[in-house]
Amino acid sequence: MNYLRSNGIASPLYGFSIGQDRKNVEHMVPQLSQGGIGLADRDYYLKDDSRSQDIRAAYSTFIIRLFTLTGTSATKAEANAKAIFNIEKQLANAQLSRVEMRDAYRTYNKFSVADLSRKTPMLQWPQILPALKVLGQDSILVNNPAFFVTADSLLQSIPVADWKTYLQWYVLRGAAPYLNSTFVDAGFAFNQVITGQKVPTPRWQRISSLTDGNIGELLGQLYVKDYFKPAAKARMEELVSNLRKAYASRIQQLDWMSDATKQKALAKLAAFRPKIAYPDKWQTYDGLLISRNSFFQNMRNADAWGYNYMVGRLGKPVDRERWGMTPATVNAYYNATLNEIVFPAGILQFPFFDPNADDAINYGGIGAVIGHEMSHGFDDNGSKYDADGTLRNWWTEEDRKKFEVKADALARQFDGYTVLDTLHVNGKLTLGENIGDLGGLNVAYEAFKMTKQGQSDEKIDGFTPDQRFFLSWAQVWRTNTLPQTAAQLLKTDTHSPGQYRAIGPLVNMDAWYKAFDVKENNQLYKKPEERIRIW
Ligand SMILES: [Zn+2]
Repeated sequence: MNYLRSNGIASPLYGFSIGQDRKNVEHMVPQLSQGGIGLADRDYYLKDDSRSQDIRAAYSTFIIRLFTLTGTSATKAEANAKAIFNIEKQLANAQLSRVEMRDAYRTYNKFSVADLSRKTPMLQWPQILPALKVLGQDSILVNNPAFFVTADSLLQSIPVADWKTYLQWYVLRGAAPYLNSTFVDAGFAFNQVITGQKVPTPRWQRISSLTDGNIGELLGQLYVKDYFKPAAKARMEELVSNLRKAYASRIQQLDWMSDATKQKALAKLAAFRPKIAYPDKWQTYDGLLISRNSFFQNMRNADAWGYNYMVGRLGKPVDRERWGMTPATVNAYYNATLNEIVFPAGILQFPFFDPNADDAINYGGIGAVIGHEMSHGFDDNGSKYDADGTLRNWWTEEDRKKFEVKADALARQFDGYTVLDTLHVNGKLTLGENIGDLGGLNVAYEAFKMTKQGQSDEKIDGFTPDQRFFLSWAQVWRTNTLPQTAAQLLKTDTHSPGQYRAIGPLVNMDAWYKAFDVKENNQLYKKPEERIRIW
């Protein structure tokens, strides 16, 4: 297990990473997390609905297929699949659910290495950590201690032969995408059941993704050179600044929050650090060997390099210039422990952003994304972190209660959105994102109303400025998702499906009712007292 992990090949049994200590953010610490399962969620092992059953059957077929491809007899391959599933099911059973895992306090458990080893006698951390290239650390963070107690007891109760099979499976599965087309096809056949995808992703797209995922800041330099215009960076800085002003004004006007908490919220808002387009200092990947000889070896080299880079961050100051997404990524993020909002070059294009478009388009698109990322600092999870990134309460008890009542109402509203037959959005799983969208669109609208176009009523292409703002928001979320993929995302994705991200904030915004003259008999209508306002 130590070999697979410290070479970046696989993460059997549990997850391991190096990250900031969220109660002591200037320190990088080793962190252990629940893991060890091959399907995307614990539910697939534990639930008996037909979707879960189909996915379990496909997983078993996939395991048997990869083992037989490597010369294992059909009978033995079948027995292997059973042994692997038996281990993973027990690990799944010991995992917390995704909703439980969103609790930043519950999942913060600091142990001395000695104390943790007493809880898990089969897992002797003073021996494991050096094998993982982790030296001189006397404490460790564990997100789910009970999981490790169970994993430890399984090491005693399950025969060593079965653990060997389990590890072989990790090697096989991790290698399959980089082997010949027979192995790649076996992987696709399995993914097809999970996602519904009809034809394999073209090779050039798969390799582009791998390149981005492994040496993304080398690829990113080429991307930025060809596709990113410096003028867009200046325009983004102006948008971020206007959004920050609008956000401050909204916080000051909140009718449910005390002045004491408002002052803390404003201090946190002022401390957000924006990062736009690409890093100031590029990652150089020193020591990573890439050659034309072997694709598989290149991947192994990149995996090992990634692991060494990660453990190399231990004992050093927190690197605040590092980016968690690559430049070509069409996405953005908020990092609570760094209190930063990050917008890669990839998202600074249509439909999110167009330097030549009118303000309504940009504020309804990238403006709302900026507001969304800022609002993550104030969502049910992010709001537990202070301006300096520390997990530390800055709320009065009464304000926190009022916030939670509003957040619960929003969770119930999203629970009501049915996506596929009986499957509905999980309001608690997606709460942080939905608070982000609701706050984000409101603050973007407020910032838009401070612009010249926001104050005029001049139509473009037959639409008022407000209509164009809301249409731009909706355009961002046009997606086309296969039912199988949608079912998996409802379970695993903390974001609501695109169509509900589009309408989710709108039904709570008076300005949207006014812009499109939405009346009581319209399907999306909500009574004024049902409309939720948080930020
Ligand atoms: Zn988000």
